[in-house]
Amino acid sequence: MPVYEFRCQNCRRLVRLRMSFSEYETAVPTCPHCQSNQLKRRIGRVTLAKSEDARMDAMMDDTALAGLDEDDPKSIGKFMRKMSREMGEDMGDEFDEVVDRLESGESPDSIEESMPDLGAGGDEMF
Ligand SMILES: [Zn+2]
Repeated sequence: MPVYEFRCQNCRRLVRLRMSFSEYETAVPTCPHCQSNQLKRRIGRVTLAKSEDARMDAMMDDTALAGLDEDDPKSIGKFMRKMSREMGEDMGDEFDEVVDRLESGESPDSIEESMPDLGAGGDEMF
């Protein structure tokens, strides 16, 4: 099934939901972060399962998400470190810095604020 992206108008987070096209037509999706239904569709960002996505999905569905607590920076940091290891890629100094700061308990919002370039051109996971 394709993944559709939405932007939550309430908490401004990027929301990815997997649904069939007919569901997409009729569903009123709810933000998993704040339960708002003010989700704006991001037209043109429909992602069909490519190999990379399939690998990501497998990781997300699998053990990677088990134990992830999005309200706990340390948990997010651990999760991101694990993701980068799974991908086998050097994610760069900025990524390392973010992970380090998350793991030391700093909130993602405060990190984002101090690193304005963060997420430019990349995926906003959180
Ligand atoms: Zn929200």
